[in-house]
Formats: sequence, structure tokens, C-alpha cells
Amino acid sequence: MQSRGCGISNVGRRAGVVGNATKSRRKMKVATHSSHSIPKLVCPDGEDGLLVSTKYMKRIVRVDRQGMRMSVEGGVTLRQLIEEAAKAGMALPYAPYWWGVTVGGMLGTGAHGSSLWGKGSALHDYVEAMRIVSPGRPGDGYAEIRTLDVNRNSTRAEMDAVKVSLGVLGVISQVTLKLQPLFKRSLTYSIKGNSDLGQQATSFGNQHEFADIMWYPSQRKAVYRIDDRVTLNAVGNGLYDFTPFRSTPSLTLALVRSTEELQESLNDADGKCNSAKLVSSTLETIAYGLTNNGIIFTGYPVIGYHNKLQSSGTCLDSPQDGLFTACPWDPRVKGEFFYQTTFSVELSMVKNFIKDIQQLIALEPKALCGVELYNGILMRYVTASSAYLGKQEDAVDFDITYYKSKDPLSPRLYEDVLEEIEQMALFKYNALPHWGKNRNLAFDGVIKKY
Ligand SMILES: Cc1cc2nc3c(=O)[nH]c(=O)nc-3n(C[C@H](O)[C@H](O)[C@H](O)COP(=O)(O)OP(=O)(O)OC[C@H]3O[C@@H](n4cnc5c(N)ncnc54)[C@H](O)[C@@H]3O)c2cc1C
Repeated sequence: MQSRGCGISNVGRRAGVVGNATKSRRKMKVATHSSHSIPKLVCPDGEDGLLVSTKYMKRIVRVDRQGMRMSVEGGVTLRQLIEEAAKAGMALPYAPYWWGVTVGGMLGTGAHGSSLWGKGSALHDYVEAMRIVSPGRPGDGYAEIRTLDVNRNSTRAEMDAVKVSLGVLGVISQVTLKLQPLFKRSLTYSIKGNSDLGQQATSFGNQHEFADIMWYPSQRKAVYRIDDRVTLNAVGNGLYDFTPFRSTPSLTLALVRSTEELQESLNDADGKCNSAKLVSSTLETIAYGLTNNGIIFTGYPVIGYHNKLQSSGTCLDSPQDGLFTACPWDPRVKGEFFYQTTFSVELSMVKNFIKDIQQLIALEPKALCGVELYNGILMRYVTASSAYLGKQEDAVDFDITYYKSKDPLSPRLYEDVLEEIEQMALFKYNALPHWGKNRNLAFDGVIKKY
């Protein structure tokens, strides 16, 4: 970040930072504390740009229980947001599954969880007001602070243009979200063969409010998340501490990575398939990190408060040096190094897309074992949004995670199959890319799709 002469400024006086950079005609980009988007963080304008960090923009500004609203600064993490809302008896109904993302980052990339219900699973569809600091005229100190509020001074159209911004409209300094009263839910994972997955995926999202599906194409199975609201007096104090988002010993991470590097270098597809089966059966046995009471898993359903089940990431509590334990993808240790191809396929086309992937697997049965090492293809439901850069239709978002070599010229095992799936999705099924993931190909000509 700094080696190419990119400056970093922690936003304290946001308008001052933006004004100074505007005056000296420097290009700016907002960066967050841990920058979880998959595309590389680049220095704006190559060398002399400025990264404006939101690391210290972490205040909860206002909690309005009566109006069910909360106003927060742009650098507040999802974890903070969920915890603070719950303290006031409120809930963000749908959210990404990983605690480490920030409010500004989620709005920048259109981040989401999984639901076809209500306004759907994307954070931006719960935004009521935003404050953005953008470059301004000399008379205004070269910075302009704009406040948009759908209940006061802004039209829906203005908000729709701003609430998914790719980070290019200015620094999102404050956001007001519409929340709901805190509720409980009941979650069961059900494992089935994948022969009728195409059919099931089309209707499953309408049957369960928090439905999602983990698909293991090479193992020919799918894990259905049967997850719905229940009454507040339903008994249970469940907790979701998703195992792959827990703090992991750095030695284990290094060993797992070295094993995968070796398997890649030897084209050892069988080795990858065996490792994938071990990973998925272990996760099944430990219920993916679910417990019925915060301590032990005794069986499904797991019932608990929404804020304890919706999202997780206890690896955020790892020591900062990462010496002994870390988040599995922490770049400071030798650990996971992966890529994510993520796009949404319109609901009516999902069945055919799944069938196409199944046909590829019939030709190359071991091709997606590498994806299954990263917990398979995660299929989540997203709804059409009024946001200009939000989803255009109700859709299923396919999240495909796979090995990335440290050598950019070295192809991965079954690269051809992965690229075939990516190209089918984007060109045959006209899928829309997730803004915070993907390789450049997904963004090629994307402007025509929106
Ligand atoms: C382990 C893991 C789990 C993930 N889980 C999910 C998931 O469940 N659902 C999902 O949709 N995505 C998920 N993602 C993808 C990714 O995290 C999202 O795209 C996320 O929103 C990035 O947030 P961030 O706070 O890290 O922002 P960054 O990656 O740092 O920034 C994202 C963009 O937003 C801009 N930006 C950030 N803050 C501001 C601000 N205050 N003002 C203006 N612009 C700003 C940046 O300039 C950049 O363009 C996951 C990623 C990882 C690594």
C-alpha cells in the first residue's frame, strides 16, 4: 500500500482530509480497517493517491428505539452493529455472515446475507439516511458534506443512486438503518443428495426466511438451511460461531496450506477429494459451529436470538500479531489464500444453470473437490433492489471459493472447469457480479447489464 507512494489518512476530520486532497488534486479511495473485498486494494492513480481510512470512524451515533432506527459511522463493523442493536432490543434482519465487514464497505459492495423475504438480504435496502463527504468547491473548503434522508430532504431516486456506491461518491461518514424488534429463529441443517437441487433451489428460498444451501457438487450432496423466525418464548439460547471463522492455530493454517500447495503441484485430485470429504464430514459432525446453548451442540433445531445466529467471526479476537492464532485468511501468516467468484443468477434460470454444472461434473467428477475444501458452493437468496447498482431481479447468489497460487502465472487444478462455470454464469445466464469479489472478467462490459 505504501511502497508505491500511496498516502494513508485516518479520517478524523473527514471534510478536512477530503478538502486537502481535493485542493492538491490527489485521487482518493476509502479503505477500511481490514479491507475484506477480494479484488486487490490499489493505490488510486498508481502512485500519488490517498487512501482515506475509516479505522477510527467507529461510533454508534444514535439509537432510536421508538423509530427502530440506528445511526452509525461508516467504519462501524457488522459485529458492532449487531451487538449494539441487540442491546436496544433491535435487529438488522439480514446481513452478511462475516462480522468483519464495515457499514461503508457493505454499502460500497452491495453486501448481503440470504433471504427472499421482506426487502431481502442486502444491507443497502435498510438504509434511511446517509452522510457523504465528497470533493467540493474552493469556497466550501474543497469539500462538501451531503446528507440524504428519505424521510426529510431526499427523493427515493437520489438514495437509490447513492446507497450502493462502489466507494466512488465520497466518504460515507454516517448511515441510518431501519431495524426491527429483536426476534428468535430456529435453524436446522438437512443434508440430501443433489439430483433435484435445481428444482429445490428455485422454491426453497420462498419456503424459509433465512434459507441458504451449501452445495458439494463433486460429493453430489447439498446442505439445506431450514431457518425461520419463531416466537420469542420458544426455548433455546443457540449460538452460531461458524468454525471456519474461528481463531485457528497458525501452525495448523500453515500445514493445511502446505498440503494444498503440494496437492496442486502434484495435480493430486484424489488427495483434494479426500481432504474435502474430511472437511465436510467434520463440519457436519460439529454442526458447522452451532451450539444449542453457547457451549455444546445437542441436536437440531438450534433455537436462539437472531443476533446470536445471523453472523459470526470470533477470529477477530485473535492476537494482533497472528503469531499463534489468526483468522484463516490473515495475510500476515501462512494460511488460506483464495479467490472468490461470486455472481447472482436470476431465480427462473437457476435450475438450468445448476444442471449445466452437474453435466460438467458428470464429465469431470473430481473437478470441484477444490471448491469443497472451502465449504462448497454457497447459494444465497437475494432480491431485486431499487438501488441502481443493486440486484435487478430476485436471484440466487453463487459463492465459489477456491485455491489461489502465490504465483499469478500458475494455473490451479481444474482451472478450465472453474472458468467454464464462470463464463457460463456471466455470458450464458447473464449473471450479475458481486462488487466486492470476482476476477476482472466479471466486470467486463458490466455497465451494459445495469
Ligand atoms: C471471510 C469473508 C466473508 C465474507 N462474507 C460476505 C458475505 O457474507 N456477504 C457478502 O456480500 N460479502 C461477503 N464478503 C465480501 C466482502 O467482505 C464484502 O464485499 C464487504 O462488504 C467488504 O467490506 P469491508 O468493510 O471489508 O470493505 P472494503 O473491502 O475495505 O471496501 C469495499 C469498498 O467499499 C468502499 N468503502 C469502504 N468504506 C467506505 C466508506 N466509509 N465510504 C465510502 N466507501 C467506502 C471501498 O473504497 C471499497 O471500494 C466476505 C469476504 C470475506 C473475506
